[in-house]
Amino acid sequence: MGRQKQHKPRRPRGESGQPTTEWFGTAFHSTRGMQHLDVRQSGNGVLITSSPAEIDGVAACWPLRLRNDDDGQGLNEVAAAFAAGRGHVFGVTEGPSYRTVLAFLPDHPEEGVGTLARVRTPEDPEGDVVFERSAERPMGLWAEAGENLRRIVPLLSPDAPPADEEDCQLCPGCYRPVYESSTSHTLIGAGPMPVIGLCRLCAEGSTLRSLRQADVPVDPQQRAVLETVAAALV
Ligand SMILES: [Zn+2]
Repeated sequence: MGRQKQHKPRRPRGESGQPTTEWFGTAFHSTRGMQHLDVRQSGNGVLITSSPAEIDGVAACWPLRLRNDDDGQGLNEVAAAFAAGRGHVFGVTEGPSYRTVLAFLPDHPEEGVGTLARVRTPEDPEGDVVFERSAERPMGLWAEAGENLRRIVPLLSPDAPPADEEDCQLCPGCYRPVYESSTSHTLIGAGPMPVIGLCRLCAEGSTLRSLRQADVPVDPQQRAVLETVAAALV
């Protein structure tokens, strides 16, 4: 190697150049398109972002912040559950006439899909169970997230600066969550308007290449952005 002269990174980086406190994966679904999962350190805790997730029935980005109040024990349990594909309840909140449960549901082993969900269950047994938020991903992607979470948890520290409450910005090319620490790019002069906040994979043209190989549906707006990038890369 011997090329690591730069003193630029704000956070420690692994050999692959990836910051060691974050991980990102994408599944290509035959009908739903790209499904991203991002795991990263956030203060003395972690942030698990699913994009897209279903929030009140609408596709949106779901940043889930998990605090580390017990020296990593709770987060390690989450990591182990993801890695092993085991069901896990993160927590239960009691409301006036209902309770809200945050859980990982490896519900469909035959389909290889697991769901992270916040579910509201009414006290009234006749009432409906409501999935307030949910993110479905292949079990393999959850397992990878779990392995990486397991790696990140020991790096957390009570001395860490508090988490920034930054908004989840979505890459216009793929809707991947782009955080301050993620690399993002602005492409100016490529088309009628500058394309801002592209993730590295989209800026390099890798997203479009993967999509062509995977043959999955893409939102027309995303496609327009990716085609613009491709035209600018030529
Ligand atoms: Zn992107």
